[in-house]
Amino acid sequence: MTTDGTVMAGSGSDTAAGAVEAPYDVVIIGAGPAGLAAGLSLVRARRRTLMIDSNRPRHSATLRSHGFITRDGVPPLELRRIGREEYEAYPAAEFHMGLVRTVEQVHGANLADATAARFTVSTKGIRGEKNRVVTARTVLIATGLAETLPALPSIRAWYGTNLHSCIACDGYEEADRALALIGETDDLAEHALLISQWTDDLIVFTNGVGQVSESDEAALVARGIRVDRRPLTDVLGEQGAMTGIQVAGGEFVPRAGGFVRPRYEAAATFASALSPATDAFGLILVDPQGRTSVPGLFAAGDTTPPGPEQLLVSAGEGARAAVAINRQLLGPLATHPPLNLAGRPGVG
Ligand SMILES: Cc1cc2nc3c(=O)[nH]c(=O)nc-3n(C[C@H](O)[C@H](O)[C@H](O)COP(=O)(O)OP(=O)(O)OC[C@H]3O[C@@H](n4cnc5c(N)ncnc54)[C@H](O)[C@@H]3O)c2cc1C
Repeated sequence: MTTDGTVMAGSGSDTAAGAVEAPYDVVIIGAGPAGLAAGLSLVRARRRTLMIDSNRPRHSATLRSHGFITRDGVPPLELRRIGREEYEAYPAAEFHMGLVRTVEQVHGANLADATAARFTVSTKGIRGEKNRVVTARTVLIATGLAETLPALPSIRAWYGTNLHSCIACDGYEEADRALALIGETDDLAEHALLISQWTDDLIVFTNGVGQVSESDEAALVARGIRVDRRPLTDVLGEQGAMTGIQVAGGEFVPRAGGFVRPRYEAAATFASALSPATDAFGLILVDPQGRTSVPGLFAAGDTTPPGPEQLLVSAGEGARAAVAINRQLLGPLATHPPLNLAGRPGVG
């Protein structure tokens, strides 16, 4: 153990100077549906797995999540609890409550050797857990998104209950009400069109920032949707229910609920030293099997494009990445190139 209480190496136990511990087969960063689905698959494949989670899921703002088969309407924290219990029921599973601070490549790692440690992962332990530094043969990033809402003083208070970000997840519950769409991006018309399936009373609020072209506005108006381009002061409500939008200058526009379009980026600054390829929004690019541009580094779930950002989609991506991770850990065959999931020659 170091002077700051950090526990070194693979097993979580203190290491005497010079002791060499086996790396984890996989370190999974993030215990949302992507990480949990991957973890379950990997521990069932008897891969020695460490799952690390900072316990700050983006969807904790909401009380019910929808659209996950067999679990429609489940509280999202309940879904995570069940997922973690299932994962930890296997002997190969370890869980660490911590915030990953860095993931770095092991200096001089032999990339041709599938048994070698390729990565060092360091964490700040939370909820009484110690800081840790571990090594791993592969790493899966499943840390979801960091989101920024328009800077209105009370918007967070309504987020997840009256104001939602996922139209497919919460449109049904908001149907036939007077709704708002608040956003500062240039894709508001597309979102408004999707919301119009649920209500014929929708106002798009750009807060003086979001872009809606004149031709898109005309198309929205033809569907009965109004665009309000004025800056906003706040989202108001009383007794736990949103009542409307306060516009700069004082006008109050009654609205019973609606949607907000956050700005997103991948919650993965800890991997900056590895510089995996990203798209224009900073999401981590992966191939169809979850491989990033860095050998041995995988990513799944909301932190990768193209979405949609939903529980079931993230879980599926985690499960798919787990198959590829498990295959990579076996190393290449001597005489044949490794197969990809479609049974065709692929990347090892
Ligand atoms: C308000 C709201 C309501 C939603 N409702 C629905 C719904 O009804 N139905 C639906 O299908 N989808 C819904 N979603 C979307 C859904 O929650 C996401 O698509 C899904 O959770 C993404 O899964 P994930 O595993 O990729 O990431 P997440 O579930 O976001 O999990 C990421 C995990 O990584 C951890 N983490 C992040 N950084 C670090 C770090 N540095 N170190 C360690 N751990 C870290 C976080 O603590 C978190 O636990 C909703 C989202 C929101 C915000």
